[in-house]
Amino acid sequence: MTITQRLKQIRSQISNAELAFNRQPGSVLLLAVSKTKPAEDLAAAYQSGQRHFGENYLQEALGKQQALGAYDITWHFIGPIQSNKTKALATHFDWVHSVDSLKIARRLSDQRPAHLPPLNICLQVNISDEQSKSGITLDELPELCEQVVKLPKLKLRGVMAIPAPQDDFERQRRPYKTLYQAVAKLGRPELDTFSFGMTGDLQAAIAEGSTIVRIGTALFGERNYAGKLV
Ligand SMILES: *Cc1c(COP(=O)(O)O)cnc(C)c1O
Repeated sequence: MTITQRLKQIRSQISNAELAFNRQPGSVLLLAVSKTKPAEDLAAAYQSGQRHFGENYLQEALGKQQALGAYDITWHFIGPIQSNKTKALATHFDWVHSVDSLKIARRLSDQRPAHLPPLNICLQVNISDEQSKSGITLDELPELCEQVVKLPKLKLRGVMAIPAPQDDFERQRRPYKTLYQAVAKLGRPELDTFSFGMTGDLQAAIAEGSTIVRIGTALFGERNYAGKLV
């Protein structure tokens, strides 16, 4: 299948899930996760109407941004963040989904160039994957939100999660439901973004309120990490 055909198929899966779970049509954005894939693959998706792309590795992303400089792309960073990368992230991205400390948030705000609008931010919450070191706990969410909303060059949009993989649909739904409810309890209507769902659990994520699904494999095929630039 071509990228164009795969894109069409994923878009229809999203529409079907919106319909099945009483979500407003068009309320779930497709983020094309293009890590390890060449600029030509992104260009192919772009030609078929895709505008939002997600990248995990800074150097790799900067190369593709340069190659695709003439395209009207919204760039999302979704990978782990090291302090020494915040300046480039603040300069070259529209969204960062993987903020998990006040220190990183402060640096992104301080380093966001004055001429650009505030950087869109999601806080990464670790809801079920004890193995992963990324992400804050649910308990830390209220306090970090309170601090991050004060930062002038950031716009706190919501939360991102990467739960431990599960095959069972009901099990896939559970961590998303927990996180959705925790955010609802904060009573902050400006938090309008739930960055939930990947190739393996897109339907469950949409059932539980996802507004951005991050899809890599289903769109671009399996990834080969040999020789990747971080
Ligand atoms: C790689 C990645 C994805 C895409 O995962 P697929 O299973 O290939 O769809 C989504 N989110 C994050 C944070 C990723 O690192």
